[in-house]
Amino acid sequence: MSLVLNGIGVSRGVAIGKAHIILRGSIEVLESAIPPQYIEAEVTRFLNAVETARLQLNSIRDNIPDDTRADIAAFIDTHLLMLDDATIVNTPVELIRENGCNAEWALKLQRNSLVAVFEQMNDPYLRTRRDDVDHVINRIQRILLASSQEDKSAEDSLLGAIVMTDDLTPAETVVLEHQGINGFATESGGPLSHTAILARSVQIPAVVGAHGIQQYIRDGERIILDGQQGILIADPDQRTLEHYIEREAREEQRRAELASLIRTPAVTLDQTAVTLMANIELPDDIEAVARENTNGVGLYRTEFLFMNRAEPPDEEEQYDCYSRVIDDMNGRLLTIRTLDMGADKQVDGSGIRCSSNPALGLRAIRLCLKDPGLFAPQLRAILRASSHGPVRMMIPMLSNTQELHQVLHLIQHTKDALEREGLAYDPHIQIGGMIEVPAAALCAETFASHLDFLSIGTNDLIQYTLAIDRVDDEVNYLYDPLHPAVLRLIKMVIDAGLAAGIPVAMCGEMAGDPRYTRLLLGMGLTEFSMHHTALQEVKRVINQSTIESLAPNVEALLQAADPERIVAQIEALNSSLY
Ligand code: PEP
Ligand code: MG
Repeated sequence: MSLVLNGIGVSRGVAIGKAHIILRGSIEVLESAIPPQYIEAEVTRFLNAVETARLQLNSIRDNIPDDTRADIAAFIDTHLLMLDDATIVNTPVELIRENGCNAEWALKLQRNSLVAVFEQMNDPYLRTRRDDVDHVINRIQRILLASSQEDKSAEDSLLGAIVMTDDLTPAETVVLEHQGINGFATESGGPLSHTAILARSVQIPAVVGAHGIQQYIRDGERIILDGQQGILIADPDQRTLEHYIEREAREEQRRAELASLIRTPAVTLDQTAVTLMANIELPDDIEAVARENTNGVGLYRTEFLFMNRAEPPDEEEQYDCYSRVIDDMNGRLLTIRTLDMGADKQVDGSGIRCSSNPALGLRAIRLCLKDPGLFAPQLRAILRASSHGPVRMMIPMLSNTQELHQVLHLIQHTKDALEREGLAYDPHIQIGGMIEVPAAALCAETFASHLDFLSIGTNDLIQYTLAIDRVDDEVNYLYDPLHPAVLRLIKMVIDAGLAAGIPVAMCGEMAGDPRYTRLLLGMGLTEFSMHHTALQEVKRVINQSTIESLAPNVEALLQAADPERIVAQIEALNSSLY
């Protein structure tokens, strides 16, 4: 009998495939036999994973603040000691060598026998050691899972699967995408989480906030995932299946119609040229930038280069990566955002302390200014790469002018150092700031007077204005881009840019939602950056719009305080669209 679960559709498209359940508490591992000639390579893969776990734990311990309770630091030391324990390291190696099992399987077998011993103990203290065993082993299992993207057998095992789990980090999403999954659903998360944004960017249909996955869905069951409506159907009947196969075909046709717009420029009916740019996460996304005929990249989220690894990339690696992206842009403008790490974009081995309010804590530019060892190589790499083609640098999450002056000072200092070293860079590189904290929006004219451009990050601006955690599905119903406070802040930023004579872009998800295109045009926005899948749809609206007639209606809409009236006015703005 089929079963329907509801969640929030965050990446449109229909995916049909077998459920692959990953439970965080006990990690699902692939059990496979290793051919004799690959046994030693498998042992090395296992030992490397143990070493990476050691590096991660060392980095966490090194970054524990001095005032942390001693027992917490001791707890990490215990985990480090366990990594030296023969029962955790040597026995799995023996199992791989003697029985030919893969590393994950060997580790799982050893975990089960250790847990069985702990379960027989009466002493409650010793029983808690069982959790330590689980934590350490799960850490190694996750590292093995990440590294198995190079492992063909593991890739095959997820090919076409629909991953069902309690939660996914952006880093895990990147790994799963490489493994060829058809879609994913999570119990938690919201549409503005970085995981959801990434799903849209790589075009994997996805549903988040689908409660009951672990309870009701069985591994291997056939699933239909509707990433637009936010529906999961387990074990569908034939009629439902046919309905969705037909929907998939219609979706394909819609994509073909939009593709016919690619060569058409984005110009309103009253002849205002609009700049349409793409948001990219991974260097591979560049291919879509040319294919969709964009004006460039309005947001390159560099943090993805820092994920799924124990150590951050050094200056040379970043320089190579950014230079390659710039070369592939073939003269189109690239906006590189400096590292926006923290909150829901955690990076392995970063040693970032998990604060009780991570979104309000040490993230983005705050973290970079606090940790010059992390920031300086990126600044040098971006500046050096700017000699390869048109580049702008964008600073995330500015909230006060001290931060702004500190960053500008650091950039100047880096330029001077490059000059002395005789290394090339673009001396006129434009520096912009993301306006995503309400305080910055309210003081946008100050930021505008010191910067070359602004870009409105609505994902965070809405989160911080309305005090809604963008990844918490419990408060997702409050997440409202049309809240009058949000609209007024956006208008203030656009006006501040116009007054200062500098460009203002929008690169949050709101920019890629065609329902809001006319509203934003009417507010005076002419630079939009979005995930590339939305570009042609937004262009279709632009090409059917007249700014002159939108502006007075939008002006009236901005005076409204009643959400229902605002929605009705937006519908009226969009009514003539076909
Ligand atoms: C935003 O906050 O709108 C934004 C574009 O940045 P990110 O989603 O990466 O936080
Ligand atoms: Mg942001």
